[in-house]
Amino acid sequence: MDKHQVLKQYFGYDSFREGQEFFVDKILSGQDVLGIMPTGAGKSLCFQIPALMMDGITLVISPLISLMKDQVGSLNQAGIHAAYLNSSLTAGQYSKALGFARQGRYPIIYVAPERLLTEEFLNFALNVNIKMVAVDEAHCVSQWGQDFRPSYLKIVEFIRQLPTRPVVAAFTATATKEVRDDIIDILELQEPAVLTTGFDRKNLYFGVASPKDRYHAVQNYVETHPDDSGIIYCLTRKAVEDVWQRLRQAGVMVTRYHAGLSDEERRRNQDDFIYDRAPVMVATNAFGMGIDKSNVRYVLHYGMPKNIESYYQEAGRAGRDGEPAECILFYNGQDVITNQFFIDHNEDNQELDPITRQIVMERDRDRLKRMTFYCFTNDCLRDYVLRYFGEYGSNFCGNCQNCITQFEEVDITKAATALLGCVSTSGQRYGVNVIIDTVHGANTAKIRQYQMNRNPYYAAAADVPVYRLRKIINELMIRELLIVTNDEYAVVKLTKDAARFLECSETIVMKMAKELERPLKEKTEKKAKKSMAGSSLLTETDQDLFEQLRALRLELAREEKIPPYLIFSDKTLLSMCVIKPKDKVKMLSVSGVGTFKYEKYGEKFLACINNYLS
Ligand code: ADP
Ligand code: MG
Repeated sequence: MDKHQVLKQYFGYDSFREGQEFFVDKILSGQDVLGIMPTGAGKSLCFQIPALMMDGITLVISPLISLMKDQVGSLNQAGIHAAYLNSSLTAGQYSKALGFARQGRYPIIYVAPERLLTEEFLNFALNVNIKMVAVDEAHCVSQWGQDFRPSYLKIVEFIRQLPTRPVVAAFTATATKEVRDDIIDILELQEPAVLTTGFDRKNLYFGVASPKDRYHAVQNYVETHPDDSGIIYCLTRKAVEDVWQRLRQAGVMVTRYHAGLSDEERRRNQDDFIYDRAPVMVATNAFGMGIDKSNVRYVLHYGMPKNIESYYQEAGRAGRDGEPAECILFYNGQDVITNQFFIDHNEDNQELDPITRQIVMERDRDRLKRMTFYCFTNDCLRDYVLRYFGEYGSNFCGNCQNCITQFEEVDITKAATALLGCVSTSGQRYGVNVIIDTVHGANTAKIRQYQMNRNPYYAAAADVPVYRLRKIINELMIRELLIVTNDEYAVVKLTKDAARFLECSETIVMKMAKELERPLKEKTEKKAKKSMAGSSLLTETDQDLFEQLRALRLELAREEKIPPYLIFSDKTLLSMCVIKPKDKVKMLSVSGVGTFKYEKYGEKFLACINNYLS
């Protein structure tokens, strides 16, 4: 079989996605590779397809049990013999799996990095023909990355012991230069073919909102998307508990995940989410790596993550099936302080020497700043992220909140002067709220206590609403006229440029949304009318077919005790609704229906469609 046949027969796909063919070819020609592709781009096939075409064994190193389980499950579903070796197996199961592996039963074996140097595993590995070592989530080797795993450092030691050096193929979604260099150095990749594919995920809609009542905004979103599966990320365990509790009381089928729960409960909750028993997950960032659930329709952030890398990775868990999905960040000024605290108290950094620690902390602060500006910017949000990763777009994507919002140019000189003047005349000692309240002319106890009602700029911008003053402060930060200090009091201070600005009082114009918060709400309401993103392509009657196919899938999944999406993805079901195949040949033309899956499920789905058509 050639690569196209493997793609079609096993996986049911007609064409490769960007980058896939490149990696398949390089690996087959014996060259090491490093692939940097965003979440959901299809990294797995890059090593699975050559693995099936080579005559030896491919070992896949993966950091998490759930990830291995998912991938092996999906290979098995495609009719491929694959197995995993990790601590979730009993000693008996482990030896048995190794026995089969020795007999050459599995072309692909997933193994936890901790296992590699154990006697039993080495004994196996040194006596079989290992053709490739594929390192998934390869950024785990780097201390600069988010998810450093010391056990990943064992990979190279393991490879060195093998009698013949296999091809080493590394894949990750994290693209920064430090991490990329680390992967190449630490894994000792030999003249690797490196390719970074576009980071853009066109099917994802991006939005930012700072609602007064953040919780209600989230609940409203969830309730207007009742049939969709989604993830709500919170910054702290406490917030997870809170949001989870309240959504549960509101009658949402919701589960939760954070490091404070027992292993047992985490596993159970994760399964409930994956199997769609609880389609909404509230979690800290501990949740996600290894979640390949393809039909996540939205990722909400209840709080701003610490950097764009984290945000894009978490948001990227939406819409892996390529269907439309939404990523909305609910921002609040307090988030910066919370993240600052995390940076200052990062336990991972405690082990570093003082100089490195200082560098790491400064880098983290800078990243936090750039994350914060994402929440403030009026430019294309997608472009902002892509530029962060070094890609340049058109500055208009048409599928983010800023691109669909109508802006107007507003002269903010007067308000800006008042804000800067107020900071200056009050000795640069107060936080954002006091400054805003002062120029707005609020008559609160706090303002009187600080005697800010005697400040020369008191009520100088009384006609500008508070939310606009907040936007203006944000704008002044982006323009580096103001900074907010990083200590626990978060005091507003002037930069050198601010002094210059106050002296020559030039005009400042900024883009402001004509009507605030509207676009998001409108979109939410519009979307609530249809039950699923993507199904908008369907007529109302086809919608019924889609529901029937979904129900059939769920029934089969329950029987087999596997997640529904391992049978067919939403995207595949949608294609079935459009194509309405009546026979085997037509059914096999549906993207995502391979030969093996057809044998297993094809007729049941054909029957369902025929039944529906008659
Ligand atoms: P990654 O590891 O890069 O995050 P995965 O390998 O898990 O992504 O793939 C994401 C989804 O894309 C999976 O559902 C997979 O089946 C699908 N996919 C991969 N390659 C293709 C392709 N060539 N055509 C259609 N779908 C694909
Ligand atoms: Mg992957």
